[in-house]
Amino acid sequence: MRVHHLVAGRMAPPLGPAIICHVLLVEHPEGLVLVDSGLGRADLADPRRLGPARHLLRPQSGVTAIDAVEAAGFDPSHVAHVVLTHLDFDHVGGALDFPQATWHTTAAEWAAATSDIKAVEKTRYRSAHLGGSSSMQSHAGEGDPWRHGLSAIEVLDGITLVPMIGHTRGHAAVTVQSDAGLVVHAGDAVFDASHYDPALAKIGILRAFEKSVVRIPSRLKTNHAALAALHADPDVTVVNAHDTRVFPG
Ligand SMILES: [Zn+2]
Repeated sequence: MRVHHLVAGRMAPPLGPAIICHVLLVEHPEGLVLVDSGLGRADLADPRRLGPARHLLRPQSGVTAIDAVEAAGFDPSHVAHVVLTHLDFDHVGGALDFPQATWHTTAAEWAAATSDIKAVEKTRYRSAHLGGSSSMQSHAGEGDPWRHGLSAIEVLDGITLVPMIGHTRGHAAVTVQSDAGLVVHAGDAVFDASHYDPALAKIGILRAFEKSVVRIPSRLKTNHAALAALHADPDVTVVNAHDTRVFPG
């Protein structure tokens, strides 16, 4: 399977640095598969839909998943699946532009956003986003044992959700077995990529931001260590959602 890396959102937080919404577009036998979906057109046309968190992240107009899919030369109507690391607005908002697609998330994340809502999480999930697909698959359980003590839930041939809770209660990384090795999209399980890639310089402001929005702080170190172990595997490429330095090209 061929994997394309796309920028599906740009945000300019007042405290900097500028960040992106890094998503994957997979040429899968079942159709195009989007891994995470960044921002969507309706939200950028009316940013009030994003709630107060928009002031913290300041999404920039004109950069969305559907625009990125078109710019890469693909027909958005051919996107058959959207596999989501979690349901924060800057990860699911772009999926609204693919209502024909089946959306996938963990059952824990779906419950946190819909039926088991805690006061502390009220501003991060937007109800306008959660009914955007008539076909929503929430995947229960931990899945099968996988690498480095992690587990994996296969959602499509060659694509898995790897539960990595912490940033949210149901967060998962997404793995894609591509022609060029295994791509691991870590979502927001890490913000500063130097946590897993020692060749990069530390960015203190990203680390501080990660701590300010984490739901289960005790899981941060565990997740960073797991991603560092995956990064060290010779067949693996790890990327995360927001660090511009790990976007190829
Ligand atoms: Zn995010």
